Amino acid sequence: MQVKALKTFLTDFHESVRRLPAIVKRRLHLAGNVFNFDQLMSLQITSRLPETGTSIFTVMSRMALENGAINLSQGFPDFPISAKLIELIHKNMLAGNNQYAPMPGVPALKKIIAEIVKETYDRSTDGESEITITAGGTQALFSSIAALIQPNDEVILFDPSYDSYAPSIKLNSGVPIHINLNSPDFSIDWDVVKKRINSRTKMIMINTPHNPSGSLLNENDLKTLEEIVLKYGIIVLSDEVYERLVYDTHQHQSVLKFPGLASQSVAVFSFGKTFHATGWKVGYTVAPEYLTKEIRKAHQFITFSVNTPVQMALAEYMQDRDSFIHLGKFFQQKRDFFLQQIKGSSFEVLPCHGSYFQLLSYKNISDKTDVAMAEWMTKERKLASIPVSVFYKDKSDDHLLRFCFAKSEETLHKAGEILKKL
Ligand code: PMP
Ligand code: GLN
Repeated sequence: MQVKALKTFLTDFHESVRRLPAIVKRRLHLAGNVFNFDQLMSLQITSRLPETGTSIFTVMSRMALENGAINLSQGFPDFPISAKLIELIHKNMLAGNNQYAPMPGVPALKKIIAEIVKETYDRSTDGESEITITAGGTQALFSSIAALIQPNDEVILFDPSYDSYAPSIKLNSGVPIHINLNSPDFSIDWDVVKKRINSRTKMIMINTPHNPSGSLLNENDLKTLEEIVLKYGIIVLSDEVYERLVYDTHQHQSVLKFPGLASQSVAVFSFGKTFHATGWKVGYTVAPEYLTKEIRKAHQFITFSVNTPVQMALAEYMQDRDSFIHLGKFFQQKRDFFLQQIKGSSFEVLPCHGSYFQLLSYKNISDKTDVAMAEWMTKERKLASIPVSVFYKDKSDDHLLRFCFAKSEETLHKAGEILKKL
C-alpha cells in the first residue's frame, strides 16, 4: 500500500515538474548542479543493450572528420558511382515511380536477382516467393533474426564478428554464443562448433568473405556446416554482402551452391557493396519459401518496403552483367595498389582473399592496445582505421588494425605515405 502511495506521489511530482514553464526548469537545472533534477525527472528504464555503445564505424569516422584524417576506417568507397545508374534513378523518379514499392520488393528486381543467382550459383529460386528486398544487409539480418528465433534460442556467431550481429540477436531476446575464429588464419574450428550445439541452438551465422579479416570459407567448411545443420535442424544466416569481392584464384562459396544447406539458409546480400553506394541501403535475402514467408512478416513491420526508384533502376541496370562481374578484379587492383604503397613499412600484412578490408599488424611498431593505436594514429598521424578487438566479445587484441581499400588511388597513396613513416 505504502509503495503504491509513493509511486502515485512520484508520478504526480514528475507530472508537475513536466508542466513547469521552461524558465523555472532552467532555474531548477542550475540548482541541479547541486541536486540532480535531470536524473530525478527521467524515467527509469532497463536498457535492452546495456553493454553496447556507439558503433565503432561512427566513432572512427567522426574522429577522422574532427581531426582532418584520411578515413580508411568505415567501409565505404570514396569514388563516384556509375553515372548510368544515377541516370536510371533520375529517370524513374521523373516517371513518377516515387510511391511505396510492393512490400517484398519490385517484381522486376526480384526476377533479375533470381536470374543472376541461377547464373552465379546454379540455384533456381523463385523471385516472387524466395527473394525479399530489404533496407540493406543490416535490415536483412535483423529481420531474419527477428522472424526466425524465439526467446532464449541460442545463435552461434564467430568472432571477430560484424558489429550488428550480437545486438540484433539480443534485441530479439536470443542468446549470442560467441566462438573465436582460429588465429592467425581466421578459420572455423568445427569441432568446437559441434561441442557448443545443444537443444537450444537455433541458428548459426556465418560471414564470407569475412569482415574484418578478409578471409573466406572454403568448400569443405560449407560441406561440414551442411552436415551439422541438417543433422541438428539449425538455420544458417549467411552474410554474403561481399560475394563479388573475391581475389586471386579463390571462389566465393555461397550457401546457395549447396542444396542441403540452401534448404535451411537465409543468404544476405547488399547492393551498397556491389555498386559502391553504401548510402542507399538496399539489399536482399534469398531463402526458401517457408523461411521467406516468416522473414516478410517481420520485414513488413520493420520497414514495410524499400526505396522504389532505386529498386527500379537496379532492375534495369543489372540487365548488363558487365555492371558487376568485373568487381573482383577491380577491387583486387585496389588491394594490390594499397599494398604497393606500404611496401617497406614496418606493418605486417595479413592475407586478404576477399572483402575490401586489409588487416595490418603493428606488433613491430608499438605495444599500445589496438583501440589506443587507432585513436593515436587518427589524431597524431591523420589516418583512421578500425581496431579489430572491438569485433570480439572477449576483446582479443592481436595488435591488428583494419584498413578499407575501397578508395581512390590518391587516397591510398597518401595513406601509404603515412604508414611507411610509422
Ligand atoms: N554485413 C557485413 C559483413 C558488412 O560489412 C556490412 C556493411 N558493410 C553489412 C552486413 C551491412 O550492409 P548494409 O550496409 O547493406 O546494411
Ligand atoms: N560495414 C561497414 C564497415 O564494416 C560499416 C557499416 C556501418 O557503418 N554501419 O566498415
